[in-house]
Amino acid sequence: MVSKRLMDVPESGTVAIANLVSQLKHDGVEIISFSMGEPDFDTPGHIKEACARSLNGGFTHYTPSTGIPDLRKAIAEKTARDNKIKCTAKNVLVTPTKHALFMIALAYLDPGDEVILPDPAWVSYDAVIRLAGAKPVYVPTKFEDNFCMSADMMAAAITKDTKMVMLNSPSNPTGSVMHRDTLKGIADLCIDKDIRVMSDEIYEDIIYEGEHISIGSFDGMFDRTLTLSGLSKSYAMTGWRLGWMVAPEKDIAAVNKLQTHSITCCTSFVQEAAVEALRGTQEPKKKMVAEFRKRRNLALDLIRDIKGVECNSPEGAFYLFPRYNRNISSDDLAVYLMRDAHVAITPGRSFGPSGEGCFRLSYATSEDNIIAGIENIRKSLLKL
Ligand code: PMP
Ligand code: GLU
Repeated sequence: MVSKRLMDVPESGTVAIANLVSQLKHDGVEIISFSMGEPDFDTPGHIKEACARSLNGGFTHYTPSTGIPDLRKAIAEKTARDNKIKCTAKNVLVTPTKHALFMIALAYLDPGDEVILPDPAWVSYDAVIRLAGAKPVYVPTKFEDNFCMSADMMAAAITKDTKMVMLNSPSNPTGSVMHRDTLKGIADLCIDKDIRVMSDEIYEDIIYEGEHISIGSFDGMFDRTLTLSGLSKSYAMTGWRLGWMVAPEKDIAAVNKLQTHSITCCTSFVQEAAVEALRGTQEPKKKMVAEFRKRRNLALDLIRDIKGVECNSPEGAFYLFPRYNRNISSDDLAVYLMRDAHVAITPGRSFGPSGEGCFRLSYATSEDNIIAGIENIRKSLLKL
């Protein structure tokens, strides 16, 4: 029998669909996948070469648990420059982004604590909150508002037990970007009500309109904000498992305690390659984002062309989150599209109750796949 904690938590909906697609492909079934949220590009060559140099040079042992000094410095420099967060290397913990989230939940949440989540939100926030014995409190957002949570909406969900709010801009699954005024309103509210912020900014570089704003950069916010980011999306490095948390030194110490008892440190030679990713040429990233922009426009035009399907134009990340007007749950729709259209999407419901009636389509795939896959979706939806 597994623990009650675990029983309460479903498997990751995003990873489950991706696993199923891999299995089907392995069995020879042709599936066009819009499921997995990861760039389809190869990791840039200069980063791979730095990794090979490190490996061949024998850098293959444990590193300090907080990360190698050079990488902590490179991350701090990037965060101060791009995110406008005043920090130094001492404010950086090198850790896979998803692991950071897990450790944050264990480090700061007790049973009975409440965490505010804009709904829909990426699947793993709900899971880590529950695994820590705390309670996710959903703030329903609307399609018409680009699925963004305002400070007023958040204020209505605050109770005496509210400990934290989890933000994610640009957002997975909606691609929405939180604007300066909205973030400022939320920051003021958090200061007023003494609420900690976990800000997941892993899609910070994949942005098409407007600008990426880090809530930790506002006056008075650094002390209460845990900012997460990483290499997975910006540098097409999902398999390398490297990210980071930027936070006050006391929070680095608290979360690092968990790191010393779990993964110990990130992979040594991956950390040296990460220095190259951050300090070397940023041209491949720019090219990748330009390509994603083209694909977004293409996918958006095609999906909006389907009768009874509406979609906001996402300002960032690489997801569309269309709403459909058929009488079928998003879970059943995903199964139907897999069988009938040979297309994989992620059900909107996986991301929270407000995601019902929508589905997530990751357009991090080729233009040919986008054209063929959305045409298949169109034909299958017309039959419903
Ligand atoms: N946050 C968000 C919003 C994500 O979409 C993902 C998915 N990769 C992660 C965190 C986790 O990133 P990583 O795989 O680099 O741990
Ligand atoms: N974040 C990606 C997604 O949403 C990868 C899977 C996961 O970690 O959830 O598809």
